[in-house]
Formats: sequence, structure tokens, C-alpha cells
Amino acid sequence: MASEQYAELRRRLEGERRRLQGDIAALDAEDHQPSDDAGIGNHIADDASDVMNRERNAALRGNANDLLAQVDAALHRIETGAYGTCERCGQLINPERLEALPYAIYCITCQAEVERER
Ligand SMILES: [Zn+2]
Repeated sequence: MASEQYAELRRRLEGERRRLQGDIAALDAEDHQPSDDAGIGNHIADDASDVMNRERNAALRGNANDLLAQVDAALHRIETGAYGTCERCGQLINPERLEALPYAIYCITCQAEVERER
């Protein structure tokens, strides 16, 4: 892979990591915000939407954490020189695939197999 492309992907991964960390921090802050009418009256509808919000936030945070782990792994692979090779079969990952998905750790063939095995 050309070194400019490498540098570009690294920049994108670092940007993605900052974005995800920001998202996770925002979700955390939202969860810890006391609802304004806590303790006053019995707002069942509000409580229900609070629970839904918390569940939605937990799901979003789970996704963001998964993605963050993949982004971190990709950055680590850049440092160790393993970036761009498939973790499963060791073949080079198609650069176009990395353009589309900079944190991909499997080639397209292995990705399909891994997903089938799930
Ligand atoms: Zn592979």
C-alpha cells in the first residue's frame, strides 16, 4: 500500500476514534443527568421514556465501544506493521475495502466466513 494512503487511513482512524470517544462521553453525560422532574409527582410516561432512553443509550454505547475497539486494533496494527493483512488468512486486504472500512481486520472472504460462523 502506498505510504500516503497509509497515512490517510491512519488520519481517518484517529478521527474516528476521537468521534467515538466523544459519542461515548456524551452518552455517559446524558445518562448521569438527573431528570428535571425527579421526585415530583408520578410521571409514568416520563419514566417510561427515561428507561427507553437509557436502553437506547446503552445500545448505542455498546456499538460505539465495539467500533472503538476495532479502531484501536487497526491503529495498533498500523504500529506493528500488520495493518492491511487479514488476521485470519494473512492475505492482503483489498485496499478498496480498507478505503471503505479502514478498521477491517479480515479480507472480504474471511469476513463472510466469520459472519457465517456466528
Ligand atoms: Zn482472509
